[in-house]
Amino acid sequence: MIKRLDVRDYIRTIPDFPHEGIMFRDVTTLFGDPRGFRMAIDLLLHPYAGLRIDKVAALEARGFILGGAVAHQLSVGFAPIRKKGKLPWKTIAQEYQLEYGEAIVEVHEDAILPGEQVLVVDDLLATGGTAEAGIKLIERLGGEVVGCCFVIDLPDLGGRSRLEALGVDVHALCA
Ligand code: 5GP
Repeated sequence: MIKRLDVRDYIRTIPDFPHEGIMFRDVTTLFGDPRGFRMAIDLLLHPYAGLRIDKVAALEARGFILGGAVAHQLSVGFAPIRKKGKLPWKTIAQEYQLEYGEAIVEVHEDAILPGEQVLVVDDLLATGGTAEAGIKLIERLGGEVVGCCFVIDLPDLGGRSRLEALGVDVHALCA
């Protein structure tokens, strides 16, 4: 009998990584499995069937692995949102809060065109700070966010309500 697939079966949790007390959700095992990876890409796209999507934007670094596959599946372009100093051309930057301190993400000024409908992809939603910074960059360039999709949502950390408060639709495959 063919085993019914569940995304959760492919994700491993690593205690105390990268710091003591953190339970890190490791999605490399999902990416490494041919059926798991395909299922994740198909399920990420499921709610958007029939909607106009002009571009996929994803957050460094695991978001790129998912976002590239999602963009390929949709036959649209891909816009990388990267940590400060990594992109070679003219960029705009967005600062956001981490648990301790601040971080900055950047996007090329021409990565999103005004009026483009953009799907945002990342592996995991925690506080929502990273995704919110990405959304702000897209909107500053005149793009419209169709939705944000994630493999994992950690609901206790409030990311979903934070993004929904911005009027952004959130889709996650598991909690
Ligand atoms: P947030 O900004 O929502 O608090 O954190 C989400 C970002 O941190 C995502 O870009 C995600 O890749 C990364 N992240 C935080 N915790 C984890 C984790 O346990 N597993 C994985 N795979 N990514 C994480």
